[in-house]
Amino acid sequence: MTEETIFSKIIRKEIPADIVYQDDLVTAFRDINPRAPSHILIIPNKHIPTANDVTTEDELALGRLFTVAKKLAKEEGIDENGYRLIVNCNAHGGQEVYHIHMHLLGGQPLGPMLLS
Ligand code: AMP
Repeated sequence: MTEETIFSKIIRKEIPADIVYQDDLVTAFRDINPRAPSHILIIPNKHIPTANDVTTEDELALGRLFTVAKKLAKEEGIDENGYRLIVNCNAHGGQEVYHIHMHLLGGQPLGPMLLS
């Protein structure tokens, strides 16, 4: 297991973040460098570094990422037009923070899924 990241400090409210949702399993906060009008990160409270590290024990928390994404998309007013959910893994996926997280992006057309 790799070291905790800045996201663990956000969960514990040891450093400031714009937290929009928190429960016993997950925390959601606005991305500090938003790539779309709505850009929220949804993360499990447990430190899971990457998608390679998930186990069956994590299924409840990781499923919660989706139900919270749906709720937040509605609150942001982006559910009808649509949005994108992204989980990056390791170097080729472009992962920067090694605490697994789901990006919720929306509020404008997001273009093609990948740069060609
Ligand atoms: P990824 O490239 O998938 O690992 O995405 C990491 C994301 O975390 C980036 O979009 C960053 O802008 C975001 N980020 C890094 N530090 C913070 C922070 N302190 N508060 C909010 N978002 C952050």
